[in-house]
Amino acid sequence: MPLVSEIILNNPLDFKEIYDISAPLNTVPAYPGDRPYFREWMARLDEGNDYSLSAIAFCSHAGTHLDFPSHLLKSGRCQEQYSLKRFIIPAEVISVPGEGPILPSSLQGCKIDKGQALLFKTGNSKKRLMHQVAFSEDFVSLSLGLAQLCVVMGVSLVGIDYLSVDKYGDDSLPVHGTLLENDVLILEGIDLAAVPSGRYSLICLPLSIKDAEASPVRAILVR
Ligand SMILES: [Zn+2]
Repeated sequence: MPLVSEIILNNPLDFKEIYDISAPLNTVPAYPGDRPYFREWMARLDEGNDYSLSAIAFCSHAGTHLDFPSHLLKSGRCQEQYSLKRFIIPAEVISVPGEGPILPSSLQGCKIDKGQALLFKTGNSKKRLMHQVAFSEDFVSLSLGLAQLCVVMGVSLVGIDYLSVDKYGDDSLPVHGTLLENDVLILEGIDLAAVPSGRYSLICLPLSIKDAEASPVRAILVR
């Protein structure tokens, strides 16, 4: 008898490619000031207990996560005010060279449909920044001009491969503000190192936490 997991491997939905773009929570950096991921073993089989059991604590912005408008806006929408359809959408992965903030010109020649996601693959993925516990201040972020263009084009979600769409040290968070004020969700902390540029379906489901202003997700791309 084959294991159930073997049956599933051969199987049904027939995606040719599936990419996990989430970073393991155990080894992600925490944004300065955030509470780092923490796990405590309550019981362990290898210590003679009858079962293994652990308790886990993390910031709502830990690792690969979604930001909702209520992160910055008093009357902004939070997690449960979105239909699950918002988290299962077409997405374009766009490779961006260089170290500076991503400019509007990065969208040149890219066909963008209203309601889709844009995920930016930068040097952050190449440097594997989401797999290093030490926080890097020197990461590629979005320019304000690009955020404004995303709003104009009706993009529903913008993703970046490190912990913020805003440049480190700019506490006025202009890029966050522009996107969230216009109901564009922000997916931060993705890892696109193994993902070729191009068109996919994005699935990134937040945890079911009432009033959540952000939530870790398991994000995948399929096609
Ligand atoms: Zn965040």
